[in-house]
Amino acid sequence: MRYSALSIFKQAFAGNLGWKPVWREPQPKPHYDVIIVGGGGHGLATAYYLAREFGIRNVAVLEKGYLGSGNVGRNTTIVRSNYMLPGNEPFYEFSLKLWEGLERELNYNVMLSQRGIISLYHNDGQRDHYTRRGNAMMMEGVAAEQLDRETLKKMLPFLNFDHARFPIVGGLLQRRAGTARHDAVAWGFARGADRLGVDLIQNCEVTGIRRENGVVTGVETTKGFIGCNKLGLAAAGNSSRVGEMAGLKLPLESHVLQAFVTEGLKPCIDHVVTYGAGHFYISQSDKGGLVFGAEIDGYSSYAQRGNLATAEHVMEEGVTMIPGLSRVRVLRAWGGVMDMSMDGSPIIDRTSIENLYLNCGWCYGGFKATPASGFCFAHLIAKGESHHVARALRLDRFERGFPIDEAGANPQPNLH
Ligand SMILES: Cc1cc2nc3c(=O)[nH]c(=O)nc-3n(C[C@H](O)[C@H](O)[C@H](O)COP(=O)(O)OP(=O)(O)OC[C@H]3O[C@@H](n4cnc5c(N)ncnc54)[C@H](O)[C@@H]3O)c2cc1C
Repeated sequence: MRYSALSIFKQAFAGNLGWKPVWREPQPKPHYDVIIVGGGGHGLATAYYLAREFGIRNVAVLEKGYLGSGNVGRNTTIVRSNYMLPGNEPFYEFSLKLWEGLERELNYNVMLSQRGIISLYHNDGQRDHYTRRGNAMMMEGVAAEQLDRETLKKMLPFLNFDHARFPIVGGLLQRRAGTARHDAVAWGFARGADRLGVDLIQNCEVTGIRRENGVVTGVETTKGFIGCNKLGLAAAGNSSRVGEMAGLKLPLESHVLQAFVTEGLKPCIDHVVTYGAGHFYISQSDKGGLVFGAEIDGYSSYAQRGNLATAEHVMEEGVTMIPGLSRVRVLRAWGGVMDMSMDGSPIIDRTSIENLYLNCGWCYGGFKATPASGFCFAHLIAKGESHHVARALRLDRFERGFPIDEAGANPQPNLH
């Protein structure tokens, strides 16, 4: 069924009884050309582009829970391409361009809202850094604007300008950045992949990776053995666990990141705003809730919940930046497991094991990467070579001495 205004009217007059399930619930076949482990945004997007772009339709996505139960449905929904380093900026800009056409492409409303992101800075050194970042963006053809304090006062009057511990000096604006509805992205890619014949198999945990003569031949799952010619891992926070099944020790640590949503308010914050003196970021959802988060909890964990000390720290940062936040009630909080890499940048690459491909290291920035990650991973699996915007995202860049360290934090995953 194609979604359109007409289909909504028709269904409304028919008592909304004609809507069909958005994807099938198939039983796994004994063998696929490609199996993707992980039914998050990246796994679903990979399956979609494998079928749509590269004509490989005998594909299964295996998900241990339900589709979208991982980070794709837990993030704070920010999409942007305001990166500095050459290994990252072209990739994230490619992603933003895919986002801009995604709703038409998928015939699904992912609620992309290009409201702009403003990254605040608080001292001269930080201003210089953001200027450099803006220049690097413009060298890649991506528009960036520097805003002074007076302009910011008019645009964001709710910020703490007068009595701040870290005074606001200015901000870097990317107008094309914004937010998208996170789980709609998973559902949109799932529906698109299913329509092209991909089997989406939920409640199917991969428990082992079978190899014969060093070549991957399939996976052991809670629904039995499933064979494949090629295997792609897109398990995000569980990547090290899944990699271990093939004997891989990945340059990742898993950490918890929390998100918070307040009660609904009238429209008051019409951009995404990030705080430069900490890691706080905030936007307002279409329902009116303020959606925000900050740093990871800072210890390794596979638990999808965080601790109160970090929650308190996030609230402090928020109130320092926007004093009025102190009167708003927080309704919900949750955590997700982040696959933090050694340089804070992702990995899309083949592995030393034949037919085994890897997509991981998204840290807490992988939502914005979803379309490009899926596209580039599908390209790699289908053609055996990296897409040109993902060539730097190699697994062996650490041993070769080519890290992509956007934060300049060295191999300290908890600091990226
Ligand atoms: C609180 C929070 C806020 C964030 N905010 C942002 C943001 O504003 N902007 C941004 O760009 N990014 C953000 N992120 C990061 C982003 O959500 C992730 O980087 C991205 O979603 C990871 O890719 P994914 O969608 O494929 O992951 P997931 O949705 O986690 O998908 C991986 C899937 O693999 C499955 N899986 C794991 N092991 C197995 C197995 N053995 N067998 C079968 N299936 C398995 C999991 O169940 C899961 O569904 C945030 C993350 C969190 C937690």
